[in-house]
Amino acid sequence: MKIILASRNLHKLGEMEKLFSLPHIRLVSSLDIPHAPDPDENGTTFAQNAVIKAKALAEFTHEWTLADDSGLCVDALRKPDGTEVPGVYSARYCGEHGNDAANNEKLLADLESLEEKSHNVSRRCHFACALALVSPDGQTHLAEGICPGILLRAGRGNNGFGYDPLFQPDGYDQTFAELPSDVKCTFSHRAVAARKMREILLGLFPGHTA
Ligand code: IMP
Repeated sequence: MKIILASRNLHKLGEMEKLFSLPHIRLVSSLDIPHAPDPDENGTTFAQNAVIKAKALAEFTHEWTLADDSGLCVDALRKPDGTEVPGVYSARYCGEHGNDAANNEKLLADLESLEEKSHNVSRRCHFACALALVSPDGQTHLAEGICPGILLRAGRGNNGFGYDPLFQPDGYDQTFAELPSDVKCTFSHRAVAARKMREILLGLFPGHTA
């Protein structure tokens, strides 16, 4: 049984395969699909963006598809209407897509400027991940996961990517960038969502996953 992952990131594909550990389900990267769609991720939540990506690929390929969307949510920056920040803008928080150093710098500067205005600004935050599975006829199944922790005042560690150096998960003295990646992958937001998606897959395809 084949599922196409709406991601060109082979690292994500390997990580997801390991977390699912369902030998009869084969994940294929959308890298291998010529002219795969690249829809606008214009949702306001991780779940909406994951569904947008998976649905576009399912409509194009008429296959089962899977997509994820993830990011960091910082309590003190949450907007009055509940919008998480950087939230769905995590990858492009500084204005430029995928510039991790500039994203981290802007996040620290934003919290510092809040702290100049008030005492006791919370450093609580969490990573969040939404996984959307879409059938060839458009049925959608969602799994979400979070990983709570605190945002440090300066980065530590060289592993991982994105906001990893600034994020210290609850129960650990190391940041995500200091922890070995195989440790991070056991309890990260993606791992929590993937374990829930594994249960969904087992329910949908019991014969294929025995
Ligand atoms: P994407 O959903 O993989 O595109 O991730 C969106 C953005 O969220 C990334 O560019 C990172 O800035 C941030 N992000 C998501 N997951 C992680 C993580 O595990 N560590 C660090 N940053 C992450």
